[in-house]
Amino acid sequence: MAECSVCGREAIYCARYEGRCYCEEHFLRWFDSRVRKTIRKFRFFGKREHIVVAVSGGKDSLSALHYLHNLSKKVPGWKLTALLVDEGISGYRDIAIRDFLRVAEELGVEYRIISFREELGHSLDELVRIGEERGLSYRPCTYCGVVRRYLLNRTAKEMGGTVLVTAHNLDDVVQTFLLDLTRGEVKKIPRLGPVTGVRSHEGFIKRVKLFYEVPEKEVTIYALLNDIYPRTYVECPYARLSPRWKIREFLNGMEEMYPGTKYALLRSLLRLVEDLKGVYTEKPGMCRVCGEPASGEVCRVCELKAELGILKL
Ligand code: SF4
Ligand code: ZN
Repeated sequence: MAECSVCGREAIYCARYEGRCYCEEHFLRWFDSRVRKTIRKFRFFGKREHIVVAVSGGKDSLSALHYLHNLSKKVPGWKLTALLVDEGISGYRDIAIRDFLRVAEELGVEYRIISFREELGHSLDELVRIGEERGLSYRPCTYCGVVRRYLLNRTAKEMGGTVLVTAHNLDDVVQTFLLDLTRGEVKKIPRLGPVTGVRSHEGFIKRVKLFYEVPEKEVTIYALLNDIYPRTYVECPYARLSPRWKIREFLNGMEEMYPGTKYALLRSLLRLVEDLKGVYTEKPGMCRVCGEPASGEVCRVCELKAELGILKL
């Protein structure tokens, strides 16, 4: 039995990358101090903020909501709300929404739910089917990611938010880093910094990745210890179709064999984000169809809608 490196009681978790173990109490203290350090280091929040937490009903976003709810009680100038995008993935998102509603109500957090169906006239399941019928080669995660990012940005602005929090953790970030590298998408790397959307375009709300420096496993433990872990764990039926799945397995294997790999990748990423500052400087304009930020004449969502035949350009 491993002992807590702080108090000697029975440990519930050992962080192999730093050679220390923690009991329940000291795990939670350690978790809190590290997230606070990330918040300070990257200047996530100011004294007065309307923080909109992007939630999905999964363990990471419920943990982000829970963590910031507790922190916001100590900061009088903060307002906290939650925003959930229902993509319309049957047997998955409907279950996660139940978990979200339970936690939001327990915490007494105001929230808004928007859906792909409401905004595009179709659920993600339907978009995937239409795309297949039209012979498009996109994976479900492409529609999902592009439309969700767009809706989160637009709705958080409508809600009067000053900063949008996503629950991306260390694992998510380094997986995307490797994915971008394997696809030759070096231009996308600056988006993997801890803070994005600042000064790049007035149409973008500031976005921060709350668990940027926390491994996924530790966010899971936080959720379990605080009784906010989803009651029914279901995996998105599309997840295994994405190359991210393979990268995830690869990185977990590397971390197992060489503890600290994920942090080493994060350090490389941060250095690259810094070095690439100002290198890819194209300023997005405004989509001529919907008025949201776009790198060309039309934004990616309006382009996808046109390809799917649900919008005429
Ligand atoms: Fe969307 Fe893909 Fe995540 Fe499923 S796995 S919720 S389709 S991004
Ligand atoms: Zn548009």
